[in-house]
Amino acid sequence: MSITFSITNTPTHVTATYPCQCVDHTPDGKPYADCPYCNGAGKEDFEEPSWPWVNMSNTNAFNILRAIGVNPVDYGSWEGETLDHAIKGCLIALNSESKRAVATRESSILPGGHAGVQVVHDGNVARMERMGAEARIGGYTDERVRVRVSDILGICRKAKKEGEKVTWG
Ligand SMILES: [Zn+2]
Repeated sequence: MSITFSITNTPTHVTATYPCQCVDHTPDGKPYADCPYCNGAGKEDFEEPSWPWVNMSNTNAFNILRAIGVNPVDYGSWEGETLDHAIKGCLIALNSESKRAVATRESSILPGGHAGVQVVHDGNVARMERMGAEARIGGYTDERVRVRVSDILGICRKAKKEGEKVTWG
């Protein structure tokens, strides 16, 4: 589960080109004219967005939205006034550790045996065993929040410049 923030109508550019598999399956080694992957070109392009975008987990996205003063929901878009509001929120958050603090969290360790008990039968003997392995939960530092807010700000400014919207979901 993750949320991507990106700009509408983002152009893409080709970052790599690979030979298409179809050339391995024709008798003369030429591309298959009706190939659904390469349309007979014999190669496939790998494209990336040319404008900034960022992807993060739902939890982190919600926390970042809170930090910049936006209601944390699964998806949405900013344009005009709401885009200006988001830009302002990013700038405030970048300048205020207390605003960013809502998005930070300490790393923690969930001790083994946190998932309750089960009864294990061993021949005629029944015994109780605790379930759940020790789990480490990663933290989210202030520095990381700052980077993410900067990412969002960069996306917002580019969208404004291009007359586009920022969407997330
Ligand atoms: Zn092909």
